[in-house]
Amino acid sequence: SKTPVGFIGLGNMGTPMARNLLKNGYPVIATDVFPESCKELQDLGAQVMDTPADVAEKADRIITMLPSSPNVLEVYTGPNGILKKVKKGTLLIDSSTIDPAVSKEMAIAAEKMGAVFMDAPVSGGVGAASMAKLTFMVGGVEEEYHAAQELLTCMGANVVYCGQVGTGQAAKICNNMLLAIGMIGTAETMNLGIRLGLDPKLLAKILNMSSGRCWSSDTYNPVPGVMEGVPSGNNYQGGFGTTLMAKDLGLAQSTATNTKTPIPLGSLAHQIFRVMCSRGYANKDFSSVFQFLREEEGQ
Ligand code: NAD
Repeated sequence: SKTPVGFIGLGNMGTPMARNLLKNGYPVIATDVFPESCKELQDLGAQVMDTPADVAEKADRIITMLPSSPNVLEVYTGPNGILKKVKKGTLLIDSSTIDPAVSKEMAIAAEKMGAVFMDAPVSGGVGAASMAKLTFMVGGVEEEYHAAQELLTCMGANVVYCGQVGTGQAAKICNNMLLAIGMIGTAETMNLGIRLGLDPKLLAKILNMSSGRCWSSDTYNPVPGVMEGVPSGNNYQGGFGTTLMAKDLGLAQSTATNTKTPIPLGSLAHQIFRVMCSRGYANKDFSSVFQFLREEEGQ
């Protein structure tokens, strides 16, 4: 039988990802700062522990899926962190989107304890997480990649090795900068079309058979009623929070500054999502930029 896999961070993404590990026959040992978040997994048979250190005592493969860099620092190096109790030879896979410098720092700290740390951020929304259709971008020592791949293929359709630790984050940051720009572009385009008298469903259909087509138009349309099963159809609940998108654009901004790379649209997108965070959109899905634009124009 399969040995248990630790899972820390059972939010919008972590819960369906851990569910797929259970489905593939891996016993799961989980924790989250909010015990309520563990309820669904516990009902499905996962063992729930109090702290990340407790998980590390029991599992020699651990996946973390946390909001941002400070949470990752806390879960790995905090007083009840994984590295307090980690067993030698443990494989640590962080799927959170964080600063690549923090991933490198965690890899060094893990190595000191005889463990291996890899970054493996994901692309694909909550739907892709539920259907095990995520894309994983993996950074870390190549010899460990196959061990990581065994678990990641239970949760994703595409697992791509990117290079040394931190390169998975680099790929993810680039993807999300393009996603942010594309979502704002889709939202303002749809809004203009509606103002010009077009039916939003018809406009989306036309875009999706034309050169304006993108993931935000054909898979995650931001206009309520255009598609089923996406956050725009559910008052922008669930999905990918505006705060998280603002965080990812902040990472793009600082890595671009460090490398003297111009990102004019990425910077503007960062500002738009930051303003949304201070205007009540922080916890809504990032596609609520459509609603934000409608409010801006006073409708
Ligand atoms: P989320 O906020 O829904 O879930 C994060 C979970 O981590 C929460 O349950 C929270 O309680 C838990 N947590 C925070 N600090 C903790 C700690 N110290 N110890 C234990 N648990 C802790 O976030 P999410 O949407 O699941 O996203 C997770 C990561 O994946 C983020 O980095 C995000 O940018 C990235 N991501 C999200 C999506 C998406 O569509 N939601 C898609 C791709 C990537």
